[in-house]
Amino acid sequence: MPDWRSYFPIIRDRARAPEFNSLFLFVTSRCNSLCRTCFYFDKLNSRDDLTREQIERLSATAGTFRKLWISGGEPFLRPELGEILTMFVRDNGVRNINLPTNGLMAEKIFQTIDYVLRNTSDASIDLNFSLDGLANTHDAIRGVPNNFVRTLATMRQAERRYQGERRLRRNVLTVITRENYGEVLRLGLQLLENTESSGHYFQTVRGGGPDASLQRMTREQLAELHRRLMPVHRAYARKLFAHLPAGPRHVAEMYYLGNLRLHFDLHERCFDAPARWPMACTAGQTSLVVDHNGKFRSCEMRPVIGDLAEFDYDVRAALGSAQMQREVAAIPQDNCWCTHSCFIEDSSKFSARVQLFEIPWAWWRQRWDRLQTAPLDEIEKFKSVEMA
Ligand code: SF4
Ligand code: SF4
Repeated sequence: MPDWRSYFPIIRDRARAPEFNSLFLFVTSRCNSLCRTCFYFDKLNSRDDLTREQIERLSATAGTFRKLWISGGEPFLRPELGEILTMFVRDNGVRNINLPTNGLMAEKIFQTIDYVLRNTSDASIDLNFSLDGLANTHDAIRGVPNNFVRTLATMRQAERRYQGERRLRRNVLTVITRENYGEVLRLGLQLLENTESSGHYFQTVRGGGPDASLQRMTREQLAELHRRLMPVHRAYARKLFAHLPAGPRHVAEMYYLGNLRLHFDLHERCFDAPARWPMACTAGQTSLVVDHNGKFRSCEMRPVIGDLAEFDYDVRAALGSAQMQREVAAIPQDNCWCTHSCFIEDSSKFSARVQLFEIPWAWWRQRWDRLQTAPLDEIEKFKSVEMA
């Protein structure tokens, strides 16, 4: 008797009761980049990173949760990162680790990934390489000469080293800004053709970085770019689920594409001003953000509300604290609806409306759009198109 749930990697993890699900951990403040998009730039390279013992205490008190979102700083500059990640998988039942990197330190990345894969048996890792444009644009935005070439070299090494490793997804993450807007589609198509990436995801630049001019785009420009990027997502969806039998493959592709279209919709809706999501934001209830120094927040956009040192680094005590209860009560009143995909993703998993209606509806809309605009080979058609 087949276990049909195993055929639905996208939806089997969805639609459940609100509970602590995600820890966002700024595992270090150290960074070797100078990104003009960085909302954490004023805290980088400080000397007050959490100690290994303090992080062990976070793990000991957090209980079971599914998703560990690693942030920083450049995570691979954290000593003993492999041991830290393994501890959360082993002791907290973490099922997926989201691990961003600038891709500049290939050996450290490989040592860490090898360690986690060797010492855990079932958690998956999303290793997300940041590429914010073609070579010159990427290097100019991130302030590191030859960054693009070096990151691409790391990605190619990773392709060879981890070929066939199903627990590791090697993705690309691109922040859309005024400076790369015209070449993001070309970047997406080139990577699709010339790399073995598992997926390519696009986040709209958010405020708080050192260069506010990068935000100067219009909502219409963003919407047009999103429309043109959907064929890239469709191509990755075909690759990602190619191993499944036909029926489950269609369901998995539908959820994957509907979900990504919904994220694009919310990025557009909240681009100029906050606009209500179709679900409640569950920041501070199902997720907790812990900064590099133990200060905690409900989400990455809202201010610090406490210091874990006051709670003996007890995650559940911080989640249940009076200041967190006040924060959670304030969120719906504050009209702070944002474009942050990590929190859109986390919150949507607790909404039956989103899972059963919004995602399938978003899938239909992107399918209709495809039928309208690209009847033949849509990738071929879009290849020749430059953004204005
Ligand atoms: S965005 Fe990431 S890689 Fe860039 S400066 Fe900030 S922490 Fe470093
Ligand atoms: S809507 Fe955005 S800014 Fe507001 S609490 Fe949720 S994640 Fe934070």
